[in-house]
Amino acid sequence: MSGEFDLIRRYFRDATGRRDDVMLGIGDDCALLQMPPGQELAVSMDTLVCGRHFVENVDPESLGHKALAVNLSDLAAMGAEPAWVTVGLALPQADERWLAGFMRGFSALAGRYGVQLVGGDTTRGPLTLTVQVHGFVPAGKALRRSGAKSGDLVYLSGTVGDAGLALLAQQGLYVRQGALAQLMQRLDRPTPRVELGTALRAHANAAIDLSDGLGGDLNHICEASGLGALLYLDRLPLTDAVRDYVEETGDWSVPVSSGDDYELAFTIPAERQGEFEAAVAHFDVPVTQIGIMQRGRGVRGIHPDGQTIDEVAVGYDHFQA
Ligand code: ADP
Ligand code: MG
Repeated sequence: MSGEFDLIRRYFRDATGRRDDVMLGIGDDCALLQMPPGQELAVSMDTLVCGRHFVENVDPESLGHKALAVNLSDLAAMGAEPAWVTVGLALPQADERWLAGFMRGFSALAGRYGVQLVGGDTTRGPLTLTVQVHGFVPAGKALRRSGAKSGDLVYLSGTVGDAGLALLAQQGLYVRQGALAQLMQRLDRPTPRVELGTALRAHANAAIDLSDGLGGDLNHICEASGLGALLYLDRLPLTDAVRDYVEETGDWSVPVSSGDDYELAFTIPAERQGEFEAAVAHFDVPVTQIGIMQRGRGVRGIHPDGQTIDEVAVGYDHFQA
């Protein structure tokens, strides 16, 4: 590959800390990695295309964070512990400043979870980032979408709708003084719920991370498990900004259908409720029971005024492309 890309390589070689299970990292034709005995390898990949998933002038440091965060979120949703990551980069030119910024955001997050960058590919092309993460989960213990049972309580981590409201604000469709910086942080720098995800292995029957919106993503659990879900809209955990927005506009699509929150939705058997809540009480992200799994199909919602909405994701679909 051309000399200008050789220059780029140094941004990868020592970008993250070293793990003992990496026999050979960046620099050869392959990385050599050692799996711990008794664990399954959980693998997930996400691609971000400039102009489709992010705008050209986005802060590269935030982009580096988000590209890894959305992948770690997938591992968390399976109850897997993150270990290794590979990165495919198509770059229009060898822009060192951009790459240094990108790797700052990426490496800071990788460091927080002890993830090592072990390889990748770099090529010239329209700006596109592909990140693949690898994590461990004890054999047979991964949290699948298909594991929910009728009567399970539906829980959510954190709050929903913040990233969606940030997007509306960014597009100039909603103006609210004060909370904008905090909302933008939620859109640009999502926090993957890694610690919660691994803890859920001991309690949850099913889990998913929220990338496309609460209603639609919860419906994936419903479909995979052959069940329906009932959501109590008045129980949805909302920040003040989102609560004010819903009160002002009557528009529930922000908390129910907007994506990019990267919280976890999961189902807990009712008899485990107390034990589960005690186990996660000290975590830095709160969990809230927002509904229940039941026979049937689709996600129904009970509106605070008592009205029932049959397909919440469809009923509040402003964000569905
Ligand atoms: P090859 O041509 O043998 O596939 P490359 O010249 O593309 O190897 O890459 C050399 C080394 O640099 C490899 O170990 C590869 O994994 C690593 N590498 C290349 N691009 C990246 C990247 N974007 N992120 C991490 N490692 C990378
Ligand atoms: Mg090679």
